[in-house]
Amino acid sequence: MSRAMPTVAERRRPTRAGRRYLLRTFGCQMNEHDSERVAGLFEADGMVPASGIDDADVLFLNTCCVRENADNRLYGHLGQLKTTKERRPDLRIIVGGCLAQKDRDLVRRRAPWVDVVLGTHNLHRALDLLDHAEEWGPITEIAEAAGEVTAAMLRAHRGTPHSAWVTITVGCNNSCTFCIVPHVRGPEISRRPGDVLREVEALARDRVVEVTLLGQNVDSYGRDLALDGRRKPVFADLLRRVGEVEGIERVRFTSPHPKDIKESVARAMAETPAVCEHLHFPLQSGSARVLRAMQRGYTPERFLKRLSMVESIVPGLAISTDVIVGFPGETEADFQATLDVMAEARFDSAFMFVFSPRPGTAAAAMEDRVDPEVAAERFGRLVELQRAISLEKNQALVATTVEVLAEGPSKKDAAVATTRTRTNKVVNVPGEYRAGTFLDVVVEHAAPSHLLGRAVP
Ligand code: SF4
Repeated sequence: MSRAMPTVAERRRPTRAGRRYLLRTFGCQMNEHDSERVAGLFEADGMVPASGIDDADVLFLNTCCVRENADNRLYGHLGQLKTTKERRPDLRIIVGGCLAQKDRDLVRRRAPWVDVVLGTHNLHRALDLLDHAEEWGPITEIAEAAGEVTAAMLRAHRGTPHSAWVTITVGCNNSCTFCIVPHVRGPEISRRPGDVLREVEALARDRVVEVTLLGQNVDSYGRDLALDGRRKPVFADLLRRVGEVEGIERVRFTSPHPKDIKESVARAMAETPAVCEHLHFPLQSGSARVLRAMQRGYTPERFLKRLSMVESIVPGLAISTDVIVGFPGETEADFQATLDVMAEARFDSAFMFVFSPRPGTAAAAMEDRVDPEVAAERFGRLVELQRAISLEKNQALVATTVEVLAEGPSKKDAAVATTRTRTNKVVNVPGEYRAGTFLDVVVEHAAPSHLLGRAVP
């Protein structure tokens, strides 16, 4: 068996053994996973996690600019850190991630006490830049695009031992008008299938049983690659191959794009036992006019057609979605169209948001804003409709037996385990079950956001 190439961290001589690091992560799963990689990089260099800011030698802030007011919150946070840095000049502060990529020199101008500012494409350079800062003083390094060694190739230090995220693409080639991702993550770059598979096989050897393949638009995976000069790898094949890795019992992926999903992906889901019957399918709006303004590349009719194609091929499929209410120019008729699609699609769950402009996006410059009170009222109606649908769908599971994977004790009650079905529904089960344990449970009670069950002896 050939040995995998050493990671960037493995090639380095450990230089910070025993020093303590603290990671603070803002934003999405992609950022969470980037932070795991930074933790992996730090630990390969001999560093250990700190219990809090007071015993940290290195503080890494992994920023996000997708959430509302992210700028204000980051600069407020950095303002508080100024006194900490004055008190403890040896504390090294690193600011990385999307907001750093977007704001660049602004971070340094507003917070000159930060030692290192780096972007989304050069997280793997964190230690080198820290070395530089310690020798020469504060440094800002933002790469315009991912180079040959991207952060995706770094070995991650996982927060959960049994479950792992695996990046398959970084960046995005779309231009949804509300989204900052293409600006801060750059054009889409796919990892080679062999690299992805080697990572999954290594995770399986490490007793990981569940992997989630991550990309901004997993369906366009491979378009930038050419394996033998002619055939490009496609997502459906990757899904099948990941599902065949011995020891991996569950494969998830996020997010597919409704304009790009193919029948071959649905067939791979249905024909690969490890691939879970769950699809996150972001609608965003049910109005053709609003979808055009969002530049989503599909109509409501096409969305529903693609959805029923997947549903007809994958038995027992559960679907979740994202919806934005109050996008600029949204009329009552547009909003009603969203309610109509929600009622027809009958999603199992939905992440629902009121539109808030992200600086740097096209939508932020749109003028016909929806009155915040109107948007809030629409949001309330949307949530009410979705809760009723979620409850009905969950109630249909009462008295059935489902396979769940334990994630650890519930945050509210340590005597209850939080577990998850293959369809991505949370089931609370009395008892203590180690994270990573599979069990069968009988569902006894349903609520809109979770289920209660009892383990089958
Ligand atoms: S597909 Fe659209 S919403 Fe998703 S990351 Fe790309 S630009 Fe953003």
